[in-house]
Amino acid sequence: MDEFSRIQYWNAKRQEQALKVSLGVKVDIGDDAAVVALPYEVHRDQSQYESLYTVDTMVEDIHFSSETTDFEHIGYKALAANLSDIAAMGGIPLHALIAISIPDHYSADHVMRIYNGIYDCANRYKVAIVGGDTTSSPHSLVLTITVIGMVEQGKAILRSGASVGDIVFVTGVPGQSAAGLHLLQHANTSQYPVALVDSLIRAHQQPEPHLQAGRLLSTSNACHALNDISDGLISELSEIAKASHVDIVIDENQIPLSDSMSQYAGKSGQSMFDWVLYGGEDYILVGTASREQFASIEASFREQQLQLYAVGEVIAGNGEVWMDSWNDGLQLQKRNQIMNRGYNHFT
Ligand code: ADP
Ligand code: MG
Repeated sequence: MDEFSRIQYWNAKRQEQALKVSLGVKVDIGDDAAVVALPYEVHRDQSQYESLYTVDTMVEDIHFSSETTDFEHIGYKALAANLSDIAAMGGIPLHALIAISIPDHYSADHVMRIYNGIYDCANRYKVAIVGGDTTSSPHSLVLTITVIGMVEQGKAILRSGASVGDIVFVTGVPGQSAAGLHLLQHANTSQYPVALVDSLIRAHQQPEPHLQAGRLLSTSNACHALNDISDGLISELSEIAKASHVDIVIDENQIPLSDSMSQYAGKSGQSMFDWVLYGGEDYILVGTASREQFASIEASFREQQLQLYAVGEVIAGNGEVWMDSWNDGLQLQKRNQIMNRGYNHFT
């Protein structure tokens, strides 16, 4: 197959024409560039929109290994990670471009399976794939996805908006992806209950971008800062604290845990708090919101059956993250500074 036939093979007839039309796509894969109507032409409502642009690269043996990740999941997760960045701005994703560099030992069908994952995610979250680029690669697969989205003018939720007195929250249970990876790498999965294995492995392989939660937070007008957890809870909190020139205190007892994760940590003798605080790739959201309006945000999350947990508060400071631990009598035992040791490619 020549290059163009391969691109066709991976991309043709994957998405409903109606979806593409509704997203303003006029010319998609096949020409030199895609032609797309600007968001405010497509969504003719009262709001003025701004565009969001984000790109993420996944490199084999750095971000995933083909030993613990199926081809489908490589594609699914690469797009999900990008959509999560749009969620973390409070936005709506619209279009995506897929750049893929393929080593010799990958067949066209291996790549087809990667695309199956990409389109699975794209169709689920109503994102149109409008183009990309294809090259060979000397050793590892490299998959770079660009997503374009939109948000109402002035409503993007930045990292820098946290203010003293805010409640700090998460929109799910952190650490489960790291626990799932540990399970895939170290454990004989048949030793554990099927439900436990499924939930942890799914958290690692097919994370759900919290787009609906991101929209609730941006439309609430009460969310002041937001990140998605790609590099670990503490790392994301530390970014918010630094960008906002505040300190953040989380309460050990308020951090949500899951039964699967605690059971697996117990049985495998691992430290669950390492996963919870430093594990990455959960793609849940972490942010801060006005204390006065937190109850109404909680109510809107409950109404849509979405998770939301208060885990701490914003205090005056200069970019540090602290954790309160409690003794049995529930008197404040100690407040420890938590050092950031999320994954960094260049240290
Ligand atoms: P050009 O030489 O103009 O860059 P390409 O041959 O790279 O053209 O791409 C032809 C068309 O196919 C373009 O519309 C491009 O966006 C699309 N395309 C190329 N590679 C991919 C890919 N891996 N996934 C989706 N679309 C792709
Ligand atoms: Mg090209």
